[in-house]
Order: sequence, then C-alpha cells, then structure tokens
Amino acid sequence: MAKIKAIRGMNDILPAETSSWQYLEETVLRVLKGYGYQQIRMPIVEYTDLFKRSIGEVTDIVEKEMYTFEDRNGESLTLRPEGTACCVRACEEHGLLYNQVQRLWYNGPMFRYERPQKGRYRQFHQIGVETFGMAGPDIDAELIMLSARLWRELGLLDHVTLEINSLGSAEARARYRDDLVTFLEKHIDRLDKDSQRRLSSNPLRILDSKNPDTQALLDEAPNFKDYLDQESADHFQQLLARLDAAGIAYQVNPRLVRGLDYYSKTVFEWVTAELGAQGTVCAGGRYDGLVEQLGGKPTPAVGFAMGVERLILMLQTLQCIPDNLSKTADIYVASAGEGASSAALQVAETLRSGFENLRVQVDCTGGGFKGQLKRADKSGADYALLIGEEELAQSEVTVKPLRGGAEQARVKSDGLVEHFKKLTTH
Ligand code: ATP
Ligand code: MG
Repeated sequence: MAKIKAIRGMNDILPAETSSWQYLEETVLRVLKGYGYQQIRMPIVEYTDLFKRSIGEVTDIVEKEMYTFEDRNGESLTLRPEGTACCVRACEEHGLLYNQVQRLWYNGPMFRYERPQKGRYRQFHQIGVETFGMAGPDIDAELIMLSARLWRELGLLDHVTLEINSLGSAEARARYRDDLVTFLEKHIDRLDKDSQRRLSSNPLRILDSKNPDTQALLDEAPNFKDYLDQESADHFQQLLARLDAAGIAYQVNPRLVRGLDYYSKTVFEWVTAELGAQGTVCAGGRYDGLVEQLGGKPTPAVGFAMGVERLILMLQTLQCIPDNLSKTADIYVASAGEGASSAALQVAETLRSGFENLRVQVDCTGGGFKGQLKRADKSGADYALLIGEEELAQSEVTVKPLRGGAEQARVKSDGLVEHFKKLTTH
C-alpha cells in the first residue's frame, strides 16, 4: 500500500532542527521580556469574515491564499493566514483594549495556499508582536529597536536592512490612489496583466510590482511623498529621528506598501539578500483603524511579524547557530550485566536530583558496552558512567571522562553527587 505523506508545503520539523527552533524562540522570548511584552495564544481557526473584514477582500491573501472550509454546521471557517486580526479579535472580545495599553506577542503556525518554494510554505510559523493604545512614534521606534536588538543577539544584524515608509492617513491614501489610477490608466498598455487587474481592485499594490517595466513607469507617476498628510509626515520624521538617535540604519522606500489593507502611517520590513526571492524576514506597521473596523473603539496599534522558517534558514546559511545545540546529555550512563541496568536508572535519578539542569541520559538498549560508548560519544556527554558486574557487586560506578585527558575513576554510587560537585568546582 502507498504510504501517506505530509501535505505539500507543510513541513515536519525533525529533531535535528528543533534545537535551532528552540534557540531562536528562546532568544526572541528573552528579548521580548526585556521590553515587558506578554504572550497571548489564539486559536488556529477563526470565522472567515474576520480575515475578509481585516486583511481586505481584494488582497492576495483573501483572494487566493486562504484555507477556507465549512464546518459540520455549515459555517465558513478559515485556518488563520496571519495573527494580527486574531489578536485584535481576542483582545476586543476579552476587553483588553479599552483604556489600556498592551504589549503582546504570539508564536504559531499560519496557513496560506501559496506555491511552495524555499522560504515559502503553506504552513509556516510567525512570531508576532502587537501593541495597543500608543499613538505616538515612540512605540513604533521601540518595536524597531526591539527587532534590531534581536538581530544583533542572533548575529544577523549585518545581514538585514530596514526598509521603512509611511502610508499616511486613509484620506491621504485615497487622494493618492485617485491620482495614481488616473496616471496609470493613461499608460495601461505598459502594465502587465496582474497590474491591470489591480488597477481597479487594489491599485496601491502596483507600487510593489516586481516587473521592471512597471517600476520604470512608476518613476514617472505621482509620488506618494507629495500626498502625505502633515500629521503622518510629522510622525514619520519623529520616528526616523528616534532611529537615528538609536543608531539604527534604514532606507526610506516610498514604494513599500505591504500586502494587507489595514496599515496606516508607519510600515517597515527587514529584508535580507541571503535568501533569494523570499528576502523579507520581518514585516509590520501601524494599523490605527483596524480595531474600529472590527467593531471596537478607535485604538492606536502597531505591530510586526517575523517568518520563523526564513530566520532559521538565515541562521543556517550564515552558520549563526551555536554548535553545542545538538548535545543531548552531560552524563551518559551505560551498563551491562544482570541487575546493572536497574542500578543505572537509579544512579541517573540520583544525579538529576542532585543537580539542577543536568542532562543525564541512560542507555536503555540492553546492548554491550562498545555500542553504548559510541552512543555516549554521539550524545555529546562529558562523562560516561559505566556499571558492569564488578561495579555492581561493590556498589560502585566507573566515571569515564569523554573529553579532555582526565583519568578514569571508580566512585561509590552514594558518593557520586559529591564526586561531580568536586569536579565542577575545580
Ligand atoms: P511575502 O511578500 O514574502 O509574500 P508577506 O508580505 O505576504 O510576505 P506578511 O503577511 O507580512 O508576509 O508576513 C510576515 C512575514 O511572514 C513575512 O515577512 C515572511 O517572513 C513570513 N511569511 C509570509 N508568508 C510566508 C510563507 N508562505 N512561508 C513562509 N514564511 C512566510
Ligand atoms: Mg505573501
């Protein structure tokens, strides 16, 4: 019978990789704690309308990327394609936004029906950060400083660039959209099919077209800079001043528009040249209108999401993953002979009780010492403990150092914790 395989674009993350994921997640968590952010966990499935009303009906995500299905009740549900809408929904539902400030983060799988390729999958993971209740540019700056600190801690800062733009107010965008459409309609024959379609549905998205002819045409088009409202322009200048003060380099990219409808004012992306076409590792911006759009009171909000798979790929490509991560044990316990395996299990328990965070692995295969020592070496352990018939008879253990030149020693089982305490203090 043919074996059942995983769904295309949905990956297993195997033990050889999970230590890298944990390393990334632990680093992110440490950085977020340093800024006082709290975790929120939302369901993976939501009502389809949540995404239609937030992301926008004529965006790539809603038009063609969502996993939408009817449940047994005939209700339309969707596997979440992103976390911001879910986070706003959850916060509103539980009264976390009214007259409050929130700094939140989440981590989990997202689902988009896209063409799978390197750095682009159908189930992928985002670590998202969302803040609510802060209208000024300080929080925009904090989020960017937080992400820059994360890149520095991961050793990636020299390999990413920050692109930033302001989308202004909804009114400014509407005025610009009208003029852009008028201009592009005059040159419709110079647009590709995709852009022609977007001209009536979502014209601003034409700005980030990858087509060189379209980009050349846009050089002659009205520039959004000239349409930015005063408040947004001030907000943007103050944000840039804060980034300057923090020593964070950026590139203002007037064509950065982002693929979701809910953004206003600040938008930004951290981009790398290390991953080919899938170069955006982190993206976000301000979405002051979204809470109201979903039925809440007007609430200023800004956030971003990182693509975990892309960051892992980057860490691997640049060899930024610490090499001791695959180590599974500090001490490896081997035994052979009648009764010895039971003693091995007990000795391991005593050691775990004696030392916090000590990793003790017992070889439970029941094979000979030779194979056990091979596995001990592979585990990365510093010591192997050997219990054979002789050791067992005398309630002793042989302590065999696996790295460095130290001597092997015979130690009473009940003195093992003391023995290792001495070893670690010397
Ligand atoms: P892209 O332009 O690469 O399609 P996007 O603008 O659709 O990205 P966002 O919705 O802003 O992406 O999501 C934030 C981040 O999540 C992206 O910058 C990227 O790192 C990651 N991401 C988005 N879609 C995928 C995917 N299909 N597979 C893996 N990572 C993804
Ligand atoms: Mg996309």
